[in-house]
Amino acid sequence: MALDDARQWLDKIRALPLTSPVRIMNVCGGHERSISMAGLRSALPDMIDLIPGPGCPVCVCPEEDIYQAIQIGLNEPDSIVVAFGDMLRVPVNVSSKSVRSLEQAKAAGADIRPIASPSEAVRIAKSEPGKTVVFFVAGFETTCAPVAGMLAEGIPDNLLLLMSGRLTWPAVAMLLDYETPSFDALIAPGHVSTVMGPEEWQFVVDRHGFPAAIAGFTPDSLLAAIYSVLRQKLDGRIFLDNCYQQVVKPHGNPTARRLIESTLTIVDAPWRGIGIIPASGLELRADYAQHNARLRFPVHAENARKNAGAMPPGCDCARVVLGRIKPVDCKLYGVSCTPRSPVGPCMVSDEGACRIWWSSGIRT
Ligand code: SF4
Repeated sequence: MALDDARQWLDKIRALPLTSPVRIMNVCGGHERSISMAGLRSALPDMIDLIPGPGCPVCVCPEEDIYQAIQIGLNEPDSIVVAFGDMLRVPVNVSSKSVRSLEQAKAAGADIRPIASPSEAVRIAKSEPGKTVVFFVAGFETTCAPVAGMLAEGIPDNLLLLMSGRLTWPAVAMLLDYETPSFDALIAPGHVSTVMGPEEWQFVVDRHGFPAAIAGFTPDSLLAAIYSVLRQKLDGRIFLDNCYQQVVKPHGNPTARRLIESTLTIVDAPWRGIGIIPASGLELRADYAQHNARLRFPVHAENARKNAGAMPPGCDCARVVLGRIKPVDCKLYGVSCTPRSPVGPCMVSDEGACRIWWSSGIRT
């Protein structure tokens, strides 16, 4: 059924009377994976360029936060650092005794543990009452919502959070504010919209006059969104379309939003390789100061800021994240940078465009 739907959408797109190239950006690792795995790029007319944008929270997690997590693990006695799995392999430039990732810190003796959910962090803290457990949270709204739920329920005294939460829409707003945006239309992320509501993306239409459509994660849903933004352009009738209506409801998930608002606060935040984007970060509210690892370990925060760099030498992840180049345009892609030996974060994370393209067999 879905396959038939995908074919029908493809036929409709191919029948559109396009006369000039259209660049369509997605800002979600799940979207990019589905597009790449299904081979949508080669199935679509040449004039349609699908561009992966800032859709990977691990890729944009600032080096200073990773450095701080490493330093806590290495230097704080009786500490356990827990983080979502793909964060462990992300390399940083700065080093301490050649330790350049959480994985290497673990090899050097630090107690670093991968986890798959916030509840695992709580479980570890409860089972290790004599230790300080630091949960390094790098993620977008969809990750921060369950973390907010965990905080609202109450967490053990010995569980601290090193928050590196990010909001997706300010990054898109920044890209649209450039004199020459790297795209002409947006496929908005389904999962983020499920939490925050479709209204979050209305600014793309109202402020910038760009076509936008929210998509789910199957090829047919993505093709429906691609068709929608192309049709909008051709008709000159721009609006925010919701092509994932079965899941994305007006105003999103009120409970999740309330939890985020009651436990986290919006701050100016650095994005790796990009710089500070105003009001784009999620940090713990002052009520949770006793659980804030930045406040508990200010020395490491200070050193981290002093030592913060950008991307590893030669790595073009920043331009990949901004949609200015494709993964294959990086001269390290598949040469010195592969999933087995990643140079930049975009090749480490499952949501990174370089890793997705490589795993999908895209070589040139
Ligand atoms: Fe960075 Fe590697 Fe991607 Fe190049 S191929 S942009 S080095 S992750």
